[in-house]
Amino acid sequence: MSLSVITGAITVIAVCALVIIASFIDLPTVVRIILIVLSVAVGVAGIAAAAMLDIKAGYFECPYCKELFVPGMDEYVKGYHTFTKRRLTCPKCGKTGMCKHRVTR
Ligand SMILES: [Zn+2]
Repeated sequence: MSLSVITGAITVIAVCALVIIASFIDLPTVVRIILIVLSVAVGVAGIAAAAMLDIKAGYFECPYCKELFVPGMDEYVKGYHTFTKRRLTCPKCGKTGMCKHRVTR
């Protein structure tokens, strides 16, 4: 979990730095546009990486059969969630419920 937070923070800092450089330093317009496009690309990649790390950082426990599983990207994005639980369909028993998030197995 902390790794995804660090990745997200680094991304935000990098993007801010690039935007500041692009807006304060006297650069040709083309260079400025390239810098902004680059910073947006870095931002998108960083957020995607942070999201991926967040998924891989833990397991979810089925409230019915106690099965531990890692949800797919698709279900992870769609699923309703709170800080500690997420509405997911268990791959073992097929029931949908509020699965508890666990960092370790
Ligand atoms: Zn289950």
